[in-house]
Amino acid sequence: MNCDNNCGSCESAESCSNNEMNEQDAKIASFLKNVKNKLVVMSGKGGVGKSTVAASLALTLSEQGYKVGLLDVDLHGPSIAGIFGLTGIPLNADGNRILPYQYNENLQVMTVQGLLANPDDALIWRGPLKIGVIRQFIADTQWSPLDYLIVDCPPGTGDEPLTIAQTLTDAKAIVVTTPQEVSLSDVRKSISFCKLAQLEILGLIENMSGFVCPDCGSVHNIFKSGGGEKLAQQQQISFLGKLPIDPAIVESEDAGDPAAMSEPAREALKIVVKNVIAQTKQ
Ligand code: ADP
Repeated sequence: MNCDNNCGSCESAESCSNNEMNEQDAKIASFLKNVKNKLVVMSGKGGVGKSTVAASLALTLSEQGYKVGLLDVDLHGPSIAGIFGLTGIPLNADGNRILPYQYNENLQVMTVQGLLANPDDALIWRGPLKIGVIRQFIADTQWSPLDYLIVDCPPGTGDEPLTIAQTLTDAKAIVVTTPQEVSLSDVRKSISFCKLAQLEILGLIENMSGFVCPDCGSVHNIFKSGGGEKLAQQQQISFLGKLPIDPAIVESEDAGDPAAMSEPAREALKIVVKNVIAQTKQ
């Protein structure tokens, strides 16, 4: 039988897998109406601080009074639970709705880590399963109305960022890089991916940009500095700012408390957040 997508009047609606899809699409659409800004944090390669940036942005925006949802769909290395001290907390379900973790009055956190029985287990899932889980996480989570939904994507240009780009149709990407050439060359691929996936780029952040010595206060450019800003200019995308290497960030994240960072890092983050606010819907 030909499908005209009119499930309400279709005799086969109950047994039809298309119907399930349409129901999910309807749930996703009704959630998206309640989210002002959808920001997808991406990187060309792992370890450049994508999750750190996603967590810091989410926390700072929530502390400034914005309603924020932070969704970790990095299925192979979900770090958000660790950063917020939520490791080992199982998914909280209420009937067929999943409840996000209320981190503070304004910040709700949802992470795929709750799907893993043991956080150290490896996940071996093929594309369609990953796509299904991400869509279900967006459709079935009981988010409050949000000013910002921040999505922590896995590195690279695979199924997960593509699913997010196709599901959150008016999302914008924040691309995170470190200043050295190996990272910049990967980030060019992320930029090209965004263009192909029609995911508008909000801007680029250069993380681990210089190390402020806590003893003498001087700046050491361990991974060079300024490469991200130059790349943003070349690619004609907005540069949102730089974050320095800060040992306090590693310590606070390892301890499950993302709030602690040194003063230079906090000042740098304020600039990034100000730029994000200036370029998003209020
Ligand atoms: P990704 O999500 O890109 O894989 P993470 O955010 O998990 O990267 O960061 C990788 C490691 O680097 C973590 O231990 C994190 O604490 C650390 N890190 C990230 N950004 C900084 C920074 N600006 N200063 C110091 N350590 C950082």
